[in-house]
Amino acid sequence: MTPQAQRLLQLSLPNLRDYAIVLFDPTGHIVAWLAGAEQIFGYREEEIVGCHSATLFVPEDVELGLDRYELDLARQNSYSEDDRWHLRADGTRIWVTGTVTAVREESGELCGFLKIMRDRTDLRMRSENRSNQLSAVEAAMERTRRFLQTLGHELRNPLAPIRNCTTILMRASDDPRIHKVAQTIVNQVSVLERIASDLMDVSRLQHRKLELRLSEFDVRALLEEEVAGQAARATAKGLQLECLLPDQPLPVLADPDRIRQAVSNLLTNAIKYTPEGGSIWVKATQEADDILLRVQDTGIGIAPEILPRIFELFTQEPRASDLVPGGLGVGLAIVNQIAELHGGVAQARSGGSGKGSEFMLRIPRWGPGHSEARATAVPR
Ligand code: ADP
Repeated sequence: MTPQAQRLLQLSLPNLRDYAIVLFDPTGHIVAWLAGAEQIFGYREEEIVGCHSATLFVPEDVELGLDRYELDLARQNSYSEDDRWHLRADGTRIWVTGTVTAVREESGELCGFLKIMRDRTDLRMRSENRSNQLSAVEAAMERTRRFLQTLGHELRNPLAPIRNCTTILMRASDDPRIHKVAQTIVNQVSVLERIASDLMDVSRLQHRKLELRLSEFDVRALLEEEVAGQAARATAKGLQLECLLPDQPLPVLADPDRIRQAVSNLLTNAIKYTPEGGSIWVKATQEADDILLRVQDTGIGIAPEILPRIFELFTQEPRASDLVPGGLGVGLAIVNQIAELHGGVAQARSGGSGKGSEFMLRIPRWGPGHSEARATAVPR
């Protein structure tokens, strides 16, 4: 090093305030206390030189022998690196990131160590704050999950007696006005039952606890039934509802109740989000080793910025909830989970606002030599 370079180094070291540069002898005793060492650790050079590196470590790390371990590692690998709590002269703890380099003579003989450290307590505090915030959010989510589950239970409990009493009322009276009122009650009870069961499913969904009861069946029959079941609602809204199915069977190994629930959610949405005069098609086809169920509509469509998140829990397009208030934003998340549990996928397409939507549920076809491997992987 030229005398000029040496002078430069000598002058710049005290100005290097963010970094502590410390030199140790081969036994780990401090021989030089440079740059920002005094500022970071609070010891003056005359106080600390001659002390062992352990002075800078917190007692529990000294007990674990980490001060010696760090130097041993550098001795073996010529370099060691770690981030840990250290102790300042006034006893406060600081989070320090540091590297230790073994310094050797040209002959290879160890003459000491160079340690460069930086106080990153600020970073550590920030990351601890974040992880505390994350734990708080997780705890709040768990409370919300439990609340939704309890709400679902509590909501469902009184519905069965209301339904039973209404049936008794209908049987006990020939008055058409009573029948009309009772029918309205039954219809509204069905709506509440659906909300209650969706709430319970959300809670299971968050715990990944939706369970499947698998059986072999032809999805065509299920689709026909579901379309027939919702036809009156579509007609009442002035919608054209069509079910287009192939002649050949579409066998699946699946949970019929869950597939019905998924199709029902998609069809209910199509009816909900398609204005009067629109059309809805329910289709099913076989594509390679998959069965593809589609629900298409000419309704309000989905904005491109919402589309990628449409299957996430509680996603709702403001335009849609303004138009049809009262949804929970859970139906599609349930559809997605049902598809995944069956080893399939749920997909959505839309040309944009006002351009209709298409929802697809793709599940493995069941048949000899076809989907056996995938079907056995279906979670039970
Ligand atoms: P909900 O209908 O109760 O709000 P969903 O999870 O079933 O909950 O749907 C989430 C959102 O996806 C809806 O709020 C709506 O914005 C949008 N959506 C679902 N189906 C359709 C559809 N067929 N056409 C247009 N938008 C839809």
